[in-house]
Amino acid sequence: MDLYEHQARELFAEHGIVVPRAEITGSPKQAREIARRIGGRVVVKAQVRTGGRGKAGGVKLAADPAAAELTARQILGMNIKGHTVRTVMVAQPVDIAEEFYVSYVLDRTAGRFLAIASAEGGMDIEEVAATRPEAVARIPVDPAEGVTTATAARIADAAGLPPRTVDVLVRLWEVLVREDALLVEVNPLVRTRDGAVVALDGKVTLDDNARFRRARRYDEDDSGHDPLEAAATAKGLNYVKLDGEVGIIGNGAGLVMSTLDVVAGCGARPANFLDIGGGASAQVMADGLSVVLADPSVRSVFVNVFGGITACDAVADGIVRALDTVRLTKPLVVRLDGNNAARGRAVLDGRAHPLVEQVTTMDGAASRAAHLATTP
Ligand code: GDP
Ligand code: MN
Repeated sequence: MDLYEHQARELFAEHGIVVPRAEITGSPKQAREIARRIGGRVVVKAQVRTGGRGKAGGVKLAADPAAAELTARQILGMNIKGHTVRTVMVAQPVDIAEEFYVSYVLDRTAGRFLAIASAEGGMDIEEVAATRPEAVARIPVDPAEGVTTATAARIADAAGLPPRTVDVLVRLWEVLVREDALLVEVNPLVRTRDGAVVALDGKVTLDDNARFRRARRYDEDDSGHDPLEAAATAKGLNYVKLDGEVGIIGNGAGLVMSTLDVVAGCGARPANFLDIGGGASAQVMADGLSVVLADPSVRSVFVNVFGGITACDAVADGIVRALDTVRLTKPLVVRLDGNNAARGRAVLDGRAHPLVEQVTTMDGAASRAAHLATTP
């Protein structure tokens, strides 16, 4: 699970990494109070489990407590990449001299961790990584050895970070190990005008397999959870919200994952992962469709079914009956293949819904759905 920034910074602080003073709230009035307590001028930051808040207008400076209240009012309720802002962090502002990027991430393929660091951190790190990869150092970390002071010094040196960051790099590794995290990221880690090194942002992904041995409990069904995911969980669906515009429904986790890849390969971004499983009854199809259609980012829906034990005509029946209960508001591209595909296609053709079209190949259907989602 991903932690919120304020949860990540709590872990950082416990492990001796300096973070600015801050409090969180869901109320603009309280934001004003907090600003008054911590010195007037503050940064108000949306708490959502996604990055790019700065660029989305979810991180703003406020000059005084009254401005903090106003700013909190603007940011609360904002939708950032499909996540509704329910709380804001009101933090002491920091005078930034330099912004760095540091992270440790599990490299599953190599069976190791990877330290990624750059002296050019901040909101444009993705662009830096894409256009000037030499500005981003990548150092493998042996999990058994961990990050010693010597390793940290090598990472800092490779990335061109000042020696003062070495201690933070060691402590950040301790966070990863102690908390059973798969990812810890600080962007930006800043050098302040008075020479301190401070973590201004934090992203931590915990390994859910280690939940049983974690001392700390996180409320995983809190209101900050994505509302679509909550709705899907309530219906027993295997749904994960993503950032794109093509809704995806398929049968079988493996097929759905390759569907995400193929849609991405066609130049569009998947809006979700949804595996309706083997049975794919009309009810499950209707539930799935209604969750996917409720996502305002979705511009087309791709239903990708390979009939195995469940025959395609049964799935097609499910889709047709789902169309009776769910009002289709966006184009639906359906690919049926495998067991009884011809009969399944005939069933859908018989329904002749104006927003439903069939494409017989997975690549062709993905490309059609991508086209529908990306052309105005
Ligand atoms: P993100 O866009 O979701 O990664 O949110 P961040 O927490 O990284 O904030 C975005 C940007 O806001 C940072 O890269 C900083 O440049 C800026 N920022 C955040 N906190 C402060 C602060 O205390 N002082 C100043 N001057 N800028 C800040
Ligand atoms: Mn950031």
